[in-house]
Amino acid sequence: MLEIKNLHVHFGVIHAIKGISLTVNDGEIVTLIGANGAGKTTTLRTISGLKKPTEGAIIFDGKDITNLTAQERVALGISHVPEGRRVFSSMTVLENLELGAYLRKDKDGIARDLEMVFERFPILAKRKKQAAGTLSGGEQQMLAMGRALMSRPKLLCLDEPSMGLAPLLVQEIFDIIKDINEKGTTVLLVEQNANMALQIAHRAYVMETGKITLSGTGKELLQSDEVKKAYLGG
Ligand code: ATP
Repeated sequence: MLEIKNLHVHFGVIHAIKGISLTVNDGEIVTLIGANGAGKTTTLRTISGLKKPTEGAIIFDGKDITNLTAQERVALGISHVPEGRRVFSSMTVLENLELGAYLRKDKDGIARDLEMVFERFPILAKRKKQAAGTLSGGEQQMLAMGRALMSRPKLLCLDEPSMGLAPLLVQEIFDIIKDINEKGTTVLLVEQNANMALQIAHRAYVMETGKITLSGTGKELLQSDEVKKAYLGG
């Protein structure tokens, strides 16, 4: 579904991504783990078109999308839930969700997907007329994910969905990601919580200072001594 070939990204003179290649197959959950500043967020932002690479190619469904705008990529089926769950705080929950479907014209389909989002996140249905800014952190994460689902993505890119959430909520968010995937959406997940991410991932890549240093199935990496030492607390 997604293939990244020899991607390089710079911020001025900073060489943030140094020639990474990775693939995400149809139906998979693939996770990118790594320390702060390794380049995970930049990789995700480059895939969704928010940052331009200096070299390399991004292929989605067989099509070279390297030079497409972020909006064109949404239309093709790539949806991005940014780090820090940026919802529009003065807009209601419902308005935030409707925004997620702004490129769509199929009213009936949108209504059905709204129902689907409310079924998956009952708390959002309860709070649909409330300003998004009044939601708790966990609820805002659900809203950001719900909004991304409203574009009916083929590939859902999630940046640190567990960040700042209480352990019980973290478990709930990971259960939801697994369920979204089982219902047919391919997921690319960036996480600091390597343990949880590797448990739900089919495959994973480890990033260090702009490079991919290790890859394998989620299970393999959970058992890798290197990963245990660096990312799983011994
Ligand atoms: P985190 O989990 O903290 O987000 P990360 O693995 O996602 O870490 P990135 O945020 O992608 O890492 O950062 C990769 C590198 O690019 C870092 O060295 C960072 O300082 C640099 N970088 C990221 N964004 C910018 C920016 N807007 N301007 C300059 N440098 C940046």
